[in-house]
Amino acid sequence: MSSEPVASKAEPASSREWHYHPDLPIPNSPLFAWPPQPIDSFRWLAKSWLRISERMIFALVAVAMWLYCQPSLEDCKMFGIDWIAQMYLRNLLLMVMCAGGLHLYFFVYKKQGKKRKFDPRDLTRSGRAFTMNNQVLDNMIWTCASGVTVWTAYEALLIWGYANGYVPWMSFSEHPVLFLLWFAVIPVWTSFHFYWIHRLLHWPPLYRVAHSLHHRNVNIGPWSGLSMHPIEHVIYLSSIFIHWIVVSHPIHVFFHNLWNTLGAATTHTGYETLLVDEDRGIDLGAFHHQLHHRYFECNYGNAEMPWDKWFGSFHDGSPEATERVRERRNGHRLQR
Ligand SMILES: [Zn+2]
Ligand SMILES: [Zn+2]
Repeated sequence: MSSEPVASKAEPASSREWHYHPDLPIPNSPLFAWPPQPIDSFRWLAKSWLRISERMIFALVAVAMWLYCQPSLEDCKMFGIDWIAQMYLRNLLLMVMCAGGLHLYFFVYKKQGKKRKFDPRDLTRSGRAFTMNNQVLDNMIWTCASGVTVWTAYEALLIWGYANGYVPWMSFSEHPVLFLLWFAVIPVWTSFHFYWIHRLLHWPPLYRVAHSLHHRNVNIGPWSGLSMHPIEHVIYLSSIFIHWIVVSHPIHVFFHNLWNTLGAATTHTGYETLLVDEDRGIDLGAFHHQLHHRYFECNYGNAEMPWDKWFGSFHDGSPEATERVRERRNGHRLQR
């Protein structure tokens, strides 16, 4: 998951393969550049946090969840169907509003047409690979039945841990700087986790059993993001257990899960930006991950940490990178 920059030009770039693509080559986070790039790093963080952005919205939603939509910790000391069901319904509603809202906006009412849409094609409406021959329905079922369930189960376990003092607690009043810093660290931590578990998921036996389900989606939409096999949900969402070790607050847990779940919906929108006028808007889709869905054996991570660059699997969007991926794939076939 990542936020790609809003292209500043009025005329979007296009190519034979893409209806629209951001300026190429696509960048990685400058936070890990060597020698250090303090100015670019500041700009990257400012773009993420000092304006209305996806992560800013998730942070505000996480605060609202804690203040208005969370059973009291006193009630969560013992596992009970009532408070866990309440959390499940809340999370389900958030998912439906986010993925459903984006799907209606972009794909049903087509409010933005194809402006800033990566793939020129529409979603696959039917296909035998999908449950009931329907891509969106298939994606919705896996997302709601399995994805939201695992998300809620992990969240409930942590809340139970906080309620009983098993999970280390951080309060804003005692550590305001660390409290805020956590929000910037979580996307970096999940990027590290995502790269490695995603490589694991491409290990052929695990790919066949689990991850191939997510890759039914070659052309992606908001409901594709969390459309995964339950085994993948269990692995993908497990980054949350860092809170079991590192001191934090339930608001961080909510933000972390929103980043992994609603963030998956937004980054799979297939559009770079939700435009509010001709040229500006909220960053959504990640071309970095769109390339993974098109070419498979590249971009296992995201732009928050340059793991793909370090390990030679980075596709920067250029035709030369496509050629390299194809050659690598052909090489693998010959070896088999
Ligand atoms: Zn994959
Ligand atoms: Zn994906």
